[in-house]
Formats: sequence, structure tokens, C-alpha cells
Amino acid sequence: MAKKQFKAESKRLLEMMINSIYTQKEIFLRELISNASDAIDKIYYKALTDDRLVFNKEDYYIKITADKAARTLTISDTGIGMTKDELENNLGVIAQSGSFAFKKENELKDGHNIIGQFGVGFYSAFMVADVVTVISRALGSEEAFKWESKGADGYTIEPAEKETVGTEIILKIKENTEDERFDEFLEEYRLKAIIKKYSDFIRYPIKMNVTGHRPKEGADNEFEEYTEEQTVNSMVPIWRKNKSELTQEDYDNFYFEKRYGFDKPLKHIHISADGAVVYHAILFIPESTPFDYYTKEYEKGLELYSNGVLIMNKSPELLPDYFSFVKGMVDSEDLSLNISREMLQHDRQLKLIAKNIKNKIKAQLQSMLKDEREKYEQFYKSFGRQLKYGVYSDYGAHKEDLQDLLMFYSSKEKKLVTLEEYVSRMPEDQKYIYYATGESIERIEKLPQTELVSDKGYEILYFTEDIDEFAIKMLMTYKEKEFKSVSSADLGIEPDAGDKPSDAEESGNKELFEAMKSILADKVKSVKASKRLKSHPVCLSAEGEVTIEMEKVLKAMPNNQDIKADKVLEINVNHEVFQSLKDAYARDKEKLKLYTNLLYNQALLIEGLPIQDPVDFTNDICKIMV
Ligand code: ADP
Ligand code: MG
Repeated sequence: MAKKQFKAESKRLLEMMINSIYTQKEIFLRELISNASDAIDKIYYKALTDDRLVFNKEDYYIKITADKAARTLTISDTGIGMTKDELENNLGVIAQSGSFAFKKENELKDGHNIIGQFGVGFYSAFMVADVVTVISRALGSEEAFKWESKGADGYTIEPAEKETVGTEIILKIKENTEDERFDEFLEEYRLKAIIKKYSDFIRYPIKMNVTGHRPKEGADNEFEEYTEEQTVNSMVPIWRKNKSELTQEDYDNFYFEKRYGFDKPLKHIHISADGAVVYHAILFIPESTPFDYYTKEYEKGLELYSNGVLIMNKSPELLPDYFSFVKGMVDSEDLSLNISREMLQHDRQLKLIAKNIKNKIKAQLQSMLKDEREKYEQFYKSFGRQLKYGVYSDYGAHKEDLQDLLMFYSSKEKKLVTLEEYVSRMPEDQKYIYYATGESIERIEKLPQTELVSDKGYEILYFTEDIDEFAIKMLMTYKEKEFKSVSSADLGIEPDAGDKPSDAEESGNKELFEAMKSILADKVKSVKASKRLKSHPVCLSAEGEVTIEMEKVLKAMPNNQDIKADKVLEINVNHEVFQSLKDAYARDKEKLKLYTNLLYNQALLIEGLPIQDPVDFTNDICKIMV
């Protein structure tokens, strides 16, 4: 029998498979099962249009048989089969289309092996087999043919015997090598696991002979081995079921089976879309933060199925970064025909699905916020930080999507509130949305800077996370209201008339403040009478864009550029301490220096900023004690 040569492209793909160092060789089974399922689909569709054909569901299945002694693994189906020409054309001339060129290019470019992520097809059998034999009889034909190949040097086709319509693929499994075990592809449990993993939701039964042990009849404590044909796959995927058929427990079990997380999901979203793109999806919002979530090891993504066949474990394109906590899967029929062949085309479909999914997640979160506040707060505790990163990232491109999902602790409500809630209860004379930053709620409560705003009866949002202020700066406004830090130089609040110093007083103070400023030199931009302090003697505020809190965050970053806020030391002229300052200014310049330094360092401490020289500071304190 004359050996025929593979077409050049096919040969290259084949060589790639044979020499594949890809660790996930197990996907060959997925590929062959998916081909078998396609072949049954074809007969099914034919039966729909051809009255002479009847499709009896029981007659259609895929069978997997392992023979350890012969080292063969057989995948047979009762699908449409192939004629001699089809064997030649379909198996001899594979991958002429764009997708192969695409795959190769990518593989070469970044060394990233995409085999195993997308449909690689029939030739993947050569990753595990030395010889591949295909015996097929096409629907409507009396004769069968055998196609056989040992790899890149070609294939043979000859007549064969086959009783029934369909295809049988026999793999002669490779011998184990030093580095690799191929034996496992003959092991029942392993094959079962592979089928479960990738092909659980194939619509037709995947049968296998499974051995078990049972008590021997008539004999105590004796067992016998028996073999029984089992259907390994569950066939109907949960995501294709009607929502009304499913219970919360079904979803929870699915989440657990899939190992999306070890917690219980907080919420699930079941989508069956048949608009511009047709897809099914089950998405989960986890309850707790995965331990690696806020690290760069964490990989976002959803499982991607094409018509029930898993083609990608984590498709990152399906989720925006700010929703990277979402787990789950997407199954689309629209991807099925294109996925392995027309990569670029399917890309468009994926984008559509991704956009759709993003909107669904957003809507789900919004309704949770509205109707299940407690649950939402729990979610927010775990993933709120990611939403804030989302507002900040990409130069604020997603802020419209996210701003209504944000929450901050409120000075008035003593709990988390939304921006919408804040703005809706702002008194008419309040110009800004006020916020205060600090390490914790307790610390912020004690911040002197909050006094005036609180006294005015205005609500203050507490920012306790590094990202908070950055995100808000990106937001700039909410419902046309600007955000204002309680530490900013101008609060937009006029002090009550009684608190205002007279002009004479003010010019007298000015000299004192200038003297203090020259003592502190460039540590501060200026020293001035505070308009916001009520009971505290001093505080720091910042002029310009960089706030004191931002300075702290930036300082903590690697390769920080030593960006500093323009600090203003504010003095409460109604405080007793001010009298001491005035006395010192009039009588004792050394004392003024001592007091000024003390007050400045106190202000730093209140802000949680480091004191430049703690020893000097403690010495200063001792000086006033003696
Ligand atoms: P794809 O499935 O993406 O078309 P494959 O390399 O997996 O690419 O298969 C190539 C072709 O071989 C299929 O399109 C199909 O026509 C044919 N084929 C493979 N396996 C079978 C089978 N079990 N029954 C019938 N036809 C098959
Ligand atoms: Mg295929």
C-alpha cells in the first residue's frame, strides 16, 4: 500500500504535536470526543431534515475502551462517519485556514504554547500515540475504510470491515519515557477524570467499561470483580437547565465541584442570553477574598466552553479587572465553529459576551446594594478595594460604571453609606462632599481637622484605605459636587461671626506666625490662624493637589519620588496655648522656638506622620517639664 504524504501545513502541525512538550497532553481525549460528538450532531441534523432517517437517542453514544495488554485506547462513535474521500480530505489536509497560521505565529512569538487552550483537533492524538488508526463507515455507505498513520511521514488508506455506521479511532499509546508516563492514558480512573474534567457536558453519553468489586454470592467475605458499562459524563450541564429547576444548593454544589473557591458563594448570576450573541453563563460572587487576591499571582478569568466542551480554563478577556473577583463559566455556541479555525472572528464574539457579562455583574451588584444591603456590605468588605482600584485605573475610564457601587464610612450614620445617600441629604448651604483620611475610624474621629465641618453639622466620609483618596481624586465630582478633604486649606466654610478675630488682632498675629514660619523653615509652607479648629490647639493642612494622606501613601511606595504636600501649620487662636505663644514671642525667643517645634511635631503625630527627630522632640518635652 502506497504511503500518501500529508499536505505541508498538516505535516507541520503534526510535527508540533508529536514533539509537543506540552504538559497537558490529556486534552487529546477532549479533542477526539468533541469530534465524535460533532459527528453525532451531524447525523442528528440530517435526521431533522430527512424523513427517511430516524434519530433514536439511545443509538447515539461515544464509547471509550482501554486495553492495557495491547496498549490501545479506542474512541468509537455512532456518528455520521467518513467516506474514503473524507478520510483523505479531513485527516490528511488539516488546518489550511487562518487559525493554524495564527497559532504558529503566536507560538513562535512569545513561546507561549496555546495548544490545550483552543481546539487543536485530531492531530493532538499524536501527542500520546505512536500509531493512529481510524476505521470509519459513512452514513449511507456499505463499505468502510481504514486510515492509518505513524506520524509525519504520511498515512495509508485501505478498505476495512465495519458493521455499523460511525468511526472508531484506535490509539497505540506511546511507551513510557524517563520523563513521561503514558500508561495513565490506559487507566480507568484517569480516563474517567479526564472525561469529567473536559467533556462532562457533551450532550451524548460517553460510555466506558468500569470495573468494580462486589460481594461474591453465596460466599462470605469474598469479593469478585465485575465489569459494567457506565456513562461517565453528566450530559446536561447545569447552565443549560432552567433557573426554575435549580435550587440554591445546586449552584453552591456547582461552585464547590468546580473549585471556584472554598467559601460559599455570596451570589450567583445565571445568564441565558440569546440576543446578539447566544451564550449561557453561571457567574459567582464569592463571599470572601481569596488569599492571593490582592497579589499579582491572582489570575482573573472565566472558564470558557464551546458547546459544552471546555476550551479554556481561564479566559481573562471575559472580565474587566475591577470585577476580577467573579468566578464562573461561559458556554457559547457561537464560538463552536470558529474557535479552532477563525480565532480573530471569535474574538469579536468574546468581546460582545464580555461586555454583556460586565453589565450583568454591575446590575447584580446594584440590585444587591438596593435590596440586600447586608450582603452587599459583606461583598464590599471583601472586594470594595478592587472597585476603588477600578475607579482609579485607566485614568478614570470606568468611573461611571463604578461610582454608585462605592461606599464609605460616614461620621453621621456610623456605617457605610453610598455617595448617592451622602449627596441626597446634604444641607443646602453645603458646597462640598467632605472626607477625612486616616488609618482607622477611631483615629479619624479624633482628627482636629474634622471639628469645624462636624460642628457645621456636615457629614464626613472616612477614608481608611490607601486607595480611597486616589480614587476620589479621579472621580473629581459626584453629582456635580466636588470632594474636599477636611485638611485642605480652604474648606469653603465661613467661620461664625463671633469666632472672627478683629483686624488689629490679625495683623498682630501675623508677625508671630511669620516668626514661627522662619523657625520651621521649609518644613511648612506657612503658619496661620486656623478657621477650622475648635478645641485642639494645632493641626496641619495642605494646600494644592497633594494631600497629607497622599504624601503618606506615596512615601510607602517603592521608588517613591519624595512627593510632599504643601503643609500649613494651623494654630487655634482661641486656645490657651496661643496666649503662651504670644508671651513667648514678646519675651523669650528661645521659648518660642521650643513651643513652635513642639506644636509642629504634635501636629505630625496627630496626622500619623513620622517625627524627623524623636530624640529632639522628647528633649523638648523635658525642657518644659523642668
Ligand atoms: P475540527 O474538529 O476543528 O474540524 P479536527 O482536526 O478535530 O478539526 O477534525 C478534522 C475533521 O475530521 C473534522 O472537521 C471532521 O470532518 C473529521 N472528523 C474527525 N473525527 C471525526 C469523527 N469521529 N467522525 C467523523 N468525522 C470526523
Ligand atoms: Mg475537532
